[in-house]
Amino acid sequence: MPPLNAYIATFVRAGLPIFATRDWHPPNHCSFRTRGGPWPPHCVAGSEGARFAPGLALPPSTVVVSKDTLPDEDTYSGFQGGALDARLREAGVRRVFVGGLATDYCVFHTVKDALARGYGTVLLGDAIRAVNVRPDDGRQAEAEMVRLGAVPIRRDLLAA
Ligand code: ZN
Repeated sequence: MPPLNAYIATFVRAGLPIFATRDWHPPNHCSFRTRGGPWPPHCVAGSEGARFAPGLALPPSTVVVSKDTLPDEDTYSGFQGGALDARLREAGVRRVFVGGLATDYCVFHTVKDALARGYGTVLLGDAIRAVNVRPDDGRQAEAEMVRLGAVPIRRDLLAA
């Protein structure tokens, strides 16, 4: 989270908009084990578990986009439903910088969709983390995002 907060602060200082996507699931969401899905119940709309992490330094101007809000919809992508795309276009955004959780699921699908929609897409390599259900999932997801055209950066490799 510290690298992600540092990126957010840099963008806020530059007057650039911050968009935050979040899972916002109904209690009977199809991705939950109770319904045969792969995950324990998580991010139930309105619950403590659906809040952004307390240490995440989102500015008040953050545009929040909720996703996978219907029981039978689980896309992982922040672009699900079209709201993020619409908000980005309204703001005149042509390039996105993507960080957060998780490298091998929501980050991966969000980056893929951003590229497919023609956004220049930068992957914040030091501000993502993988679930790694299989030990190599995160590394493979990063390689695939780069292969598809995402540009990986890390703060420790940027000139000061
Ligand atoms: Zn979810």
